[in-house]
Amino acid sequence: GVEVRNLSKSFGSHLVLDDISMTVAPGSVTALIGPSGSGKSTLLRCINLLETPDRGSITVGSQTIDADQRIRDVDLLKLRRQVGMVFQSFNLFPHFSVLRNITFPQEKILGRSREEAEERALTLLGRVGLKDKANHHPTQCSGGQQQRIAIVRALALNPQAMLFDEPTSALDPEIGLEVLAVMRDLAETGMTMIVVTHEMQFARDVGDHLVVMADGGIIEEGNPEEIMSDPREERTRRFLNAVL
Ligand code: ATP
Ligand code: MG
Repeated sequence: GVEVRNLSKSFGSHLVLDDISMTVAPGSVTALIGPSGSGKSTLLRCINLLETPDRGSITVGSQTIDADQRIRDVDLLKLRRQVGMVFQSFNLFPHFSVLRNITFPQEKILGRSREEAEERALTLLGRVGLKDKANHHPTQCSGGQQQRIAIVRALALNPQAMLFDEPTSALDPEIGLEVLAVMRDLAETGMTMIVVTHEMQFARDVGDHLVVMADGGIIEEGNPEEIMSDPREERTRRFLNAVL
């Protein structure tokens, strides 16, 4: 699972995350929602240490990083390896084939042989229905296909948890559904997931837990269905009215 304890982060004098604590049970899916600027992306980026937290600790699986102690690079890398991340823009290497996009990080980061990495890549591509794209270039794939490839690239590294930052918001709604279907399958395999999304149906159907952020804090959390039908907080109600 993922455990965030008393996490704070400022950019200059701007406190962007204010004492966030959050527990994501192993094998569960947490949907993270909230208005623009509330700190959702920054929280994900802190969990995989693309940003260094000022305060607090992050645990993924058996690996903990505590900002109140000196952070050692080896520990940082170890934790980062446990977390796969998928962004709104797919960030595939444009000059590599689809297959090479997926094998390259496995060789670099995990030291796998080319054969091992290709076998893993092809198995995962098969799972998302894209085995026939292995020798294409990313530019020859649709946005939805590229996003599924980005998911496969992250999964190929055997992460303990997967973070998704609005993975469908750059896609046409219909294409986004292909990606959401892959994420739903992934959830069913027992992957621990945190998903920033405006897809409320996904949050309700696939999410085990819903976390609502505003102004750098968690204002409400609980069962997705319950919060969506009867939010306790006025700010949650306003946000839901805007997206539903
Ligand atoms: P959105 O829904 O628009 O993606 P968000 O909830 O993901 O918003 P963040 O991107 O986490 O919000 O940003 C939270 C706040 O932190 C914003 O006010 C943003 O301007 C600020 N911020 C984010 N990254 C940086 C940075 N690198 N330097 C300075 N300020 C930043
Ligand atoms: Mg964001």
